[in-house]
Amino acid sequence: MGLRLFNTLTRSVEPFAPLDPAGRRVGMYCCGPTVYDFAHIGNWRTFVFADLVRRTLEFRGFIVNHVMNITDVEDKIIKRVKETGQPLREFTSRYESAFFEDLQTLNCLPPHLTPRATDHIPDILTLIGQLITRGVAYQAPDGSVYFSIEKYRGCGCTYGQLVRLNFDEMRTGERVKNDEYAKESLADFALWKARVPEDGDVFWPSPWGEGRPGWHIECSAMSMKALGPSFDLHLGGEDLAFPHHEDEIAQSEGAGVQPAGQRFVKHWLHGAHLLVEGRKMAKSLGNFFTLRDLLNQGFKGREVRHLLLSAHYRETFNFTLDGLHGARTALGRIDECVGKLRELAGPATAEPDPALVNRFTDALDDDLNISATWAAVFDWVRDTNRRLAESALSPQQAAAALAAWTCVDSVLGVGASAETGAPSDILALAEARAAAKKARDFAKADKLRDELKAQGWTVEDTPKGPKLKKVSP
Ligand SMILES: [Zn+2]
Repeated sequence: MGLRLFNTLTRSVEPFAPLDPAGRRVGMYCCGPTVYDFAHIGNWRTFVFADLVRRTLEFRGFIVNHVMNITDVEDKIIKRVKETGQPLREFTSRYESAFFEDLQTLNCLPPHLTPRATDHIPDILTLIGQLITRGVAYQAPDGSVYFSIEKYRGCGCTYGQLVRLNFDEMRTGERVKNDEYAKESLADFALWKARVPEDGDVFWPSPWGEGRPGWHIECSAMSMKALGPSFDLHLGGEDLAFPHHEDEIAQSEGAGVQPAGQRFVKHWLHGAHLLVEGRKMAKSLGNFFTLRDLLNQGFKGREVRHLLLSAHYRETFNFTLDGLHGARTALGRIDECVGKLRELAGPATAEPDPALVNRFTDALDDDLNISATWAAVFDWVRDTNRRLAESALSPQQAAAALAAWTCVDSVLGVGASAETGAPSDILALAEARAAAKKARDFAKADKLRDELKAQGWTVEDTPKGPKLKKVSP
């Protein structure tokens, strides 16, 4: 039936069809991290969701150009830069590299392009210039440049495409300079913020005086630069729908750069919030986790990924530590089954068994119905285990089952042992050994190495980390 996705613009599930006349190339933009701290687990839900969308599109044969920006200048960053006294780039680069490390830990495919806002100031200035020329932006007495919602609406454009807005509450002449504000504070928003003493060294020259860009204009400029004025997919967390995405649409469409009849973005996707242990995440409640916090508690990236991918992206999800233990058990069941299939298949190869792949594809096509995809996977695990126990599978059939799993896991991305085929207990021993070595407890590390050997596995230390190998019997 083909891939169908919910579109926030139309508030309905629609067949996904890219702008490309050949129907193959897809431009996809996801609002990236604001690099002023380590990303928390709520942020990661959005990025893992974006990865699921990208992998699904590739699985369905599309050629995706995945762009994710780095917000490296905005209100919160400037505040932190001022507190730390570090130069902007020095401050943000630490969190930027941490972000990419975490992205890898969660097995998210790296985006093809990750533009930084500070590298696109000229593009931002050009766009602001276009908005002024078209009469929908103006410089206010405070020196900053604002987007005029009234003028924009006066041109027949719609402000409030993603969220419903009450314009009666908007008082003319009101402006908002902060990057973040609520619907109740609906007002002209800042495109270029005139330099103030609190900005320290963070400013650039512009035709409207020294200053810095607003957060929203950054994404309009970078997305259109990378993907053109009209592109297929824009993603983000639902908290970004207003004002960030609404303002992105206004700026991009307000510049009038789209071909006639085309919108800035054809299809908007928003991921829902995350609760942690049943409540909104807050440092004061002790339920605020970065990915690193969870890794320090001994959890693995794939376990976190599995849990983040367990609920539908449009449903609020309750993330719990119990849930992470559940993810470990669930992945252990997959590992065990895949390990046995590998053993049985040996060198045999085969085309993927279509039963699992078809059921999985139908579930994905249905607006990424992730619960149905997992149900397909775990039914398959149960059925495969039964057939293995009954010795009812030939090596050829085992190879077909393995190929089906590989296919499915190209989207889910939770397979741990693709390279070695080591079962989870062996992986756990290898990890314990690596930890012992790191703690310089070499006696314990040697003991664990012997234990691995007794179970038929050798471990080799390579520059890329320890590598497991099965000893041929
Ligand atoms: Zn954005």
